[in-house]
Amino acid sequence: MAFNIVTKNNVRDRFKSAPRPEIWKDATDKDWNNWIWQQQKRIKSMDVLEKVLNVTEEERNAFAQSHEQFNMGITPYYASLMDPNDPNCPIRLQSVPKAGELNITVNDLEDPLGEEKDMPVPGITHRYPDRVLFYTTHNCPVYCRHCTRKRKVSDPSSSAANKQLEEGLAYIESHKEIRDVIISGGDPLSNSDDRLEYILSRLRAMDHIQVFRIGTRNLVTLPQRITDEFAQMLTKYHPVFVHTHFNHPKECTQEAFDAVARLANAGCVVNNQMVLLKGVNDDPKIVMELNHKLLMMRVRPYYIFQCDMSQGISHFRTPVEKGLEIIEALRGWTSGMAVPHYVVDAPGGGGKIPLLPSKYLISHEGKTWKLRNYKNQEYDYIEP
Ligand code: SF4
Repeated sequence: MAFNIVTKNNVRDRFKSAPRPEIWKDATDKDWNNWIWQQQKRIKSMDVLEKVLNVTEEERNAFAQSHEQFNMGITPYYASLMDPNDPNCPIRLQSVPKAGELNITVNDLEDPLGEEKDMPVPGITHRYPDRVLFYTTHNCPVYCRHCTRKRKVSDPSSSAANKQLEEGLAYIESHKEIRDVIISGGDPLSNSDDRLEYILSRLRAMDHIQVFRIGTRNLVTLPQRITDEFAQMLTKYHPVFVHTHFNHPKECTQEAFDAVARLANAGCVVNNQMVLLKGVNDDPKIVMELNHKLLMMRVRPYYIFQCDMSQGISHFRTPVEKGLEIIEALRGWTSGMAVPHYVVDAPGGGGKIPLLPSKYLISHEGKTWKLRNYKNQEYDYIEP
């Protein structure tokens, strides 16, 4: 029997580009799709932001009082995703300062994950036996208002100069127990391709290094950064895992789809680490939609992080119950691939602690496990 093969693949067409704001209407496509142009045109001042959005009094005041501690920086591409008339637009909440940032609560911590105390040399956090976090830059295309590393991101004095980079590489080289390196920042894709390739080639030449991960939000905030040349370069250093940070379905555009496709076609595995943020994605329907879109983009939803206790982000924190509610609304109701791990990264450096709704295990006695499924139906599993 002969089969007629249907070759149409319309998945990409289900993702749309946002219209460009008026201020960049005259930019050529070549410029708009060029990551260096996007970097150069980043919005860093209220004057430019006012040309893109109807800025509120609250945003103006919050910018005036916060930008010296933590810069504002928004790529034209990310700004094009914003609703100019809605101050509660999820893209806007993540990138434009709000009054809540000025509020430091008693439980806020400057270094919520205790990354500095586990730093044997500047730029390396070595907490777990077999893996390290390697900071390579303090820059990011967009400064996320909920950033965990506000204490150093965007601060030029924390920049990873070549000397620090060499010391970090030397540390990794001399610690044979390290098998996994998370290349981080800031956003490591703020480094040039040459600098990144130098880092990757040095790591790949070490026999004890098995894998590395590149932790980047460029797929979300500056997808133009993922050029064919960059993706091609990565193929020399596999296995390369890319961990990214989509928080809302609005961020799943055709540009993001294409950027992920370039990485996936080059053999990278792409995982998503969503942060649970009040007003942005604290709704099971939004997370379900996000995760379905991510899977269509070939991104695996990997973690949902409870918003940590970094200074000036308490307005983004939800109750822990919200995260459990989201997991309960996903588990069983959609494919397991769309259900990430919900974790609290323990304050002070305790590491990631997974949380699950308590309903699934009713009791356990001897060889009998009384279990409850997603529809609240009960079952006994009896061990042999
Ligand atoms: S991209 Fe990452 S490191 Fe940079 S500001 Fe956003 S959350 Fe922080």
